[in-house]
Amino acid sequence: MANTQPSRPIILAIDGPSGVGKGTVSRALAEALGYRHIDTGAMYRAVAWKAREQGLPLDGEVAVADLASRIEMSMEHAALIVDGVDVTRAIRTPEIDHAAATVARMPRVRAVLVQRQRALGRPGGVVMEGRDIGTVVFPDADVKIYLDASPEERARRRAADPTHGGSAKALVEVATALAARDQSDQTRAASPLTIAPDAILVDTTGVPVEEVVERVLEIVRSRLSIDD
Ligand code: C5P
Repeated sequence: MANTQPSRPIILAIDGPSGVGKGTVSRALAEALGYRHIDTGAMYRAVAWKAREQGLPLDGEVAVADLASRIEMSMEHAALIVDGVDVTRAIRTPEIDHAAATVARMPRVRAVLVQRQRALGRPGGVVMEGRDIGTVVFPDADVKIYLDASPEERARRRAADPTHGGSAKALVEVATALAARDQSDQTRAASPLTIAPDAILVDTTGVPVEEVVERVLEIVRSRLSIDD
């Protein structure tokens, strides 16, 4: 992998739909750049997990937002610790996929998590992945990438993803759940998933991960030499 060290610590925003490979690509980018990787989807998942753990109804927006402001989250070495519990695996289940999309529809919850994400990313030197990073969280991010892939390819990747419970699930079941989440993410009133006008679209259909990472690093390099 080529050596890329931007001359100043930048904010690299990676947005895109479910199952597009944002996690794998963002982690590799953070490693190549020597940056922190912040997975904002994991924050919505953590809130959903904790709400269920406490038996909090998912339609109680004020209580869920209060929970979002109080829980302690740390994301070190690919593990997510919520209030002292390692939830790395527990947040990647079909139930939490669904519950996270539900809490992500709530404007009060989004307001709380967006503030927390800004605080984490503001110093720079971060690769932040999500749905609204380039549009809402950091509209002034130095480089914005929107990753996309065909729905068929996203369903295949998700069905084979061991962090999402292994490969035993029927592809059609995964594809149906993914389409429902796409619909939820794209049509919600609060910060729907859209492509920022100044984002660079990278279609990853049929492209190996290493090549996607290389392409993004190339974009980072060319952007920074233009801006500096
Ligand atoms: O990326 P991931 O699938 O882990 O995200 C879980 C859920 O959190 C998504 O379905 C989406 O609804 C929500 N999300 C969001 N905004 C973000 C990141 C994730 O609404 N920045």
